[in-house]
Amino acid sequence: MVFCSIGLISGLAYLELSRTTQENASTRLDRAAHTAASILRYGTNDRLLPEFAGSGAPILIRVPGATAGELLEPGEKLDALVETIGKTNQGAVNLFKWSPRTGTFDSLATTFPYPGGVPPSAYSIGEGHPAFASLSAGQPFSGNVPVQGRFRLAYLTPIVTEGGKVAGALAVDVGWVDDLALAENRLKTRIAPAALIILIAVILIGGVVLRFELRPLRRLAKVADELAAGLQPKRIPFTDRRDEIGDLAHGLERVTDLQDKLHKLAYTDPVTTAGNRARYFSDLSEALRRAKSGSFSASLIHLDFNGFAKVNDTFGQQVGNRVLLQAYVRLANIFGPSAQIARISADDFCILLPFDGKGAIAEDYAVQAIDMLSVPFQMEEGEIHVEPSIGIALLPQDAEDAETAHRMAGLALRAAKRSAGAGARYEFFSPPLNDRVQSEMLTETLLRAALQTRQLVLHYQPQVCPADGRLIGLEALLRWPHEKRGDIPPAEFIPIAEKTGLILELGGYVLETACKQAAQWRQAGFEFGQVSINVSPLQFRQSSFAETVRQTLKTYGLPASYLCLEVTENVFVDTREQLVMDILSQLQKIGVQLSLDDFGSGYSSLSYLHRLPFQELKIDRAFISGADSHPQREQLFEAIVRLGRSLGLRVIAEGAETAGEFALTVTHKCDGIQGYICSPAVPADRIQSQLQSFGVALKSNTLAGGSSHSSKQRA
Ligand code: C2E
Ligand code: MG
Ligand code: MG
Repeated sequence: MVFCSIGLISGLAYLELSRTTQENASTRLDRAAHTAASILRYGTNDRLLPEFAGSGAPILIRVPGATAGELLEPGEKLDALVETIGKTNQGAVNLFKWSPRTGTFDSLATTFPYPGGVPPSAYSIGEGHPAFASLSAGQPFSGNVPVQGRFRLAYLTPIVTEGGKVAGALAVDVGWVDDLALAENRLKTRIAPAALIILIAVILIGGVVLRFELRPLRRLAKVADELAAGLQPKRIPFTDRRDEIGDLAHGLERVTDLQDKLHKLAYTDPVTTAGNRARYFSDLSEALRRAKSGSFSASLIHLDFNGFAKVNDTFGQQVGNRVLLQAYVRLANIFGPSAQIARISADDFCILLPFDGKGAIAEDYAVQAIDMLSVPFQMEEGEIHVEPSIGIALLPQDAEDAETAHRMAGLALRAAKRSAGAGARYEFFSPPLNDRVQSEMLTETLLRAALQTRQLVLHYQPQVCPADGRLIGLEALLRWPHEKRGDIPPAEFIPIAEKTGLILELGGYVLETACKQAAQWRQAGFEFGQVSINVSPLQFRQSSFAETVRQTLKTYGLPASYLCLEVTENVFVDTREQLVMDILSQLQKIGVQLSLDDFGSGYSSLSYLHRLPFQELKIDRAFISGADSHPQREQLFEAIVRLGRSLGLRVIAEGAETAGEFALTVTHKCDGIQGYICSPAVPADRIQSQLQSFGVALKSNTLAGGSSHSSKQRA
């Protein structure tokens, strides 16, 4: 654009100058011709008479016919006249005479300078000369004529006789054509480079000015780019300016503030003000990206509280949230500002702890966190205890991507929880741990499928009165025959079902199946005493549990007294005692039997035993095993049996395998015995034949003699 403008202006200037030069030259030429013709007239006493056009230029010079030859003769007179004309003129004057012989106009007199002192050679206008045709036709000529290899701008007026014949010509000129056009030529040769120089200057100066002027806009555009890329610019420049740039900067500042607020909302956990799940995964991905480049390593610490649900159950969610907030404050104090702490779900905190190379290792922090969080939280509502567990994965060696890293820390956490009873409440991720958890996950998948396709079945193990061999009950035990892996024992799949919550569905299935089976046996007149089912703590804690039991009994028309629910002492671990009491009394109202399973194996608190509405106590197998050959064990066994009886409970000894162990149950007057000595658990349709073959009294009250292993032992 600039270039075009400069070109256009230069072109117009050149054309204007060229036009003015030409106009000036032709005006001067016309005047010179007019003056020359006039002087010729006066110098010849009106014998040569010029005729002029409107512009003042002579058209021709008339000469009386008789005097033409005489007038146009070379001589001093003519030379003097020509010289006079020459003095009034800037250029040269030339007087020609027509020569019919040669057909040319030949020079008679001239003022043409000859600097070398040599007179100009005979100078004539012949055919081929630009003025020849005009002059021959008696017409004036105005234009460039060749002289000594160059051109002069000349006006030639024909001298014509009265008879109309051309007799000669008067030529005046205003100088060399190239001299006249000197300025024009100079302009022509200089205009292009000048224009170019101007253009370059304009571009350079304009560029510098533009660069300088646009600098703020460029910086603001960069800030806008950063904003668009989701980065948070540190500071918006030019907000102190009072012009449009300042307005723009203020606008960007407002956008940044807004983005900042949205960012905080999107990445903050409202309960604790720690990062949220999105923040955590973003930080984790970034940490792994840096770790991959080799410049960074960190520990990923996954922490949660065992049985936090109990806090919410007991004190309400508001209090639970306040505990979480305080837990976060403690964590922030322990881990310091370099750690990134996030709460990713209910009571799960994830901490990214950069390895600072100063030897502060994750293990130290984990121990500290467990110690600090184990200190009870003092709330208005009372003192609240929580029990933290921690899983640790090391980055980058344990995982390359965020999802895997999170899973690995989660696996370590699960392992820590499992071994929590043994005192260790943190665990590092390791490949064997991974294998174990993978296998658990596989079992979980298979278990879900097995539940769907009803591959899980119930077997029933008899409980017999040792004194008279009478059948007093059957314990329903889950069996999972797997086509490829063989029989998968409950000890393997029940804990997984409990961890994954599948136990609820599983428990429902067991309740239904056992009640249905018991109702069928009853209808068939089979007196089995009672059917016992095992109830997991998770299932037991469900608020709808008692109602489900009542409904199921109703559905199958089974009187409640035929059903016994076995719970272990684990129900007290994660559940408030009052809640356990409430559920037990609801069940008691329904009329079902309640049994405390595996008594003595774990968390046994004798203090609650007399307050809880159990009818039955099942002594853990550990107490009878080998008690017949170890007097001290026998004493312990006896003490427990006595304890149960003194509380008015029916005492069942679990897991008697030998005749000696069986004999102990008789000696110490156990109410029941459940063990391989009598029978293992068998399918429902085999139970009667199994009992008969083992000699258990089905109708009579005595153990049948003969074929049974147990009867042999007793005999
Ligand atoms: P439990 O309720 O204490 O069941 C008794 C376990 O001892 C059964 O193991 C039984 O087969 C075994 N047993 C009986 N007599 C003897 C003996 O003389 N010697 C030995 N060594 N063992 C004997 P099982 O069937 O493997 O079940 C193990 C545990 O799995 C059960 O312990 C129970 O806690 C759980 N379980 C089984 N079925 C279910 C169920 O349907 N629901 C729930 N929640 N848990 C179940
Ligand atoms: Mg049991
Ligand atoms: Mg048991």
